[in-house]
Amino acid sequence: MNFDIVIIGAGISGAGAGYALAPSRKVLLLEGESQPGYHSTGRSAAVYEPNLGNATVRAFNIASGPFLKAPPAGFAEVPLVTPRGELTICDGENRPALDRMLALDGLGGNAVREISLEEAAALLPVFRREEMRWAAYEPGVMDLDVHAIHRGYLKGFAASGGKLLCDAPVTGIERRDGLWRIAAGSETVTAPLVINAAGAWADSVAALAGLSPLGLQPKRRTAVILPPPDGYDVRPWPVLGVAGDEAYMNSQSGKLLASPGDETPVEPQDVQPEEMDIAVLVDWIERRTTIQVRRIERRWAGLRTFAPDRAPVAGEDPDAPGFWWLAGQGGYGIMMSESLGRSLAALILEGELPQDLRALGVTAEAVGPGRLRR
Ligand SMILES: Cc1cc2nc3c(=O)[nH]c(=O)nc-3n(C[C@H](O)[C@H](O)[C@H](O)COP(=O)(O)OP(=O)(O)OC[C@H]3O[C@@H](n4cnc5c(N)ncnc54)[C@H](O)[C@@H]3O)c2cc1C
Repeated sequence: MNFDIVIIGAGISGAGAGYALAPSRKVLLLEGESQPGYHSTGRSAAVYEPNLGNATVRAFNIASGPFLKAPPAGFAEVPLVTPRGELTICDGENRPALDRMLALDGLGGNAVREISLEEAAALLPVFRREEMRWAAYEPGVMDLDVHAIHRGYLKGFAASGGKLLCDAPVTGIERRDGLWRIAAGSETVTAPLVINAAGAWADSVAALAGLSPLGLQPKRRTAVILPPPDGYDVRPWPVLGVAGDEAYMNSQSGKLLASPGDETPVEPQDVQPEEMDIAVLVDWIERRTTIQVRRIERRWAGLRTFAPDRAPVAGEDPDAPGFWWLAGQGGYGIMMSESLGRSLAALILEGELPQDLRALGVTAEAVGPGRLRR
C-alpha cells in the first residue's frame, strides 16, 4: 500500500495531525494496539490549563483554545471543554510561586487573580486554612472531554479519506529510493513522508529508522479516583493546587480525581501505579484538606514524555529528510493537540508555522528536532 504520509501512533497527537493533514494528503495512521488511545491519551487528568508549562507550551495551549471552545460543526456531539476554574492556595513561604502565577494574568486572555482565603473557602470548603495566607483563582481552567476530542479527530480524519490501521505495531522503517518502507503488523506500507507520533516510544521508533535518539524521557504520573467526601457536592469545586506542591485534586463526574504530581523516569511501557506514590498522595490530601481517604475507587498511571527542554518536538529530522517528529508533549498533550497537529501540518504543507503560533512568539526552530541534536 502506498500513501503520501504514514503517521505512527494513533494517540491524541497522531490523531490530531491526521485530522489536519487528511484533507490534503493520502494519510495512513498506524497504531500498535487494538484501540487508539490505550496509552497516555486514555490516562490523562483531562484538564485544560492554559498557563501550564513553559512559554512554548503555553503558546500551544492558548492557540488550541478557540478550537476546543468552538469546534467545527459536527466535530462532536458534546462540548469539548466545560468551565472548571483552578484554585491555588499558598502558605507563608511560597509567595514567590504564587507571584509567578499571578504574573501570567492576561496572557492569551486568561485571567489569574488573587482572591481572599474567605473567597477561596467559598469555592472549595475543605482545604486546611491554618497555614495558608493567600489564594489565587484562574477561571479559564476547563475540563476536557478527551474521548470526544480524540474521537472527533479520528472521525474527521476518516471523513477526509484517512485510513486507520490498528493492531499494526511498526517493527521496521527503511528508506529506499526516496520512500520509507514501513513494516507494521502483517503489512508493509510505503510513503515519502513518515510522522513519528509514538508518544513514549518516539525515540525507539526513530531507532528503527537508524536515527539517534532526541533524549525523550517518559515519566510516570499516577492518578486516583476517590468518592466525594460525606456531605459535599463536589461537582462545582475547582481544581485545587497548593503553591510549591506537586500534587493536585480535581472534581470529576461527582467524584474526586487526585494526583501526587509524580515524575518518575521510566522506560516506555504499559505503566502501572506504585503503592509509594499512592501513599504520598493520601498523605498530601489528608495534610492539605479535611478529607479522610477511606477508599480509592480507581488508580492508574500513565507516561508523560518530555524533551530535555520540556517543549514539544514538531518538525523534520535534520538527519533524515521525510522523517518528521511529533513528540515530547509531556503533561500537556491533550490541550496542545489541536494547535500542535495543525502546526505540524502547516510545516509539512506550507513550510512555516500557522500565523497564530508565530504571533504568539513560537518559531520552527524552538519546536524542531534539530535543537536537540546540537
Ligand atoms: C496521569 C496523567 C495526567 C495527564 N493530564 C493531562 C491533562 O490534564 N491535560 C493534558 O493536556 N495532558 C495531560 N496529560 C498528558 C497527555 O495525556 C499526553 O501528553 C498525551 O496523551 C500524549 O499523547 P500521544 O498521542 O503523544 O501519546 P500516546 O497517547 O501514548 O499515543 C502514542 C501511541 O503510539 C503508539 N505506538 C507506539 N509505538 C508504536 C509502534 N512501534 N507502532 C505503532 N504504534 C506505536 C502507542 O500504542 C500509542 O497509542 C496527562 C498524562 C498523564 C499520564
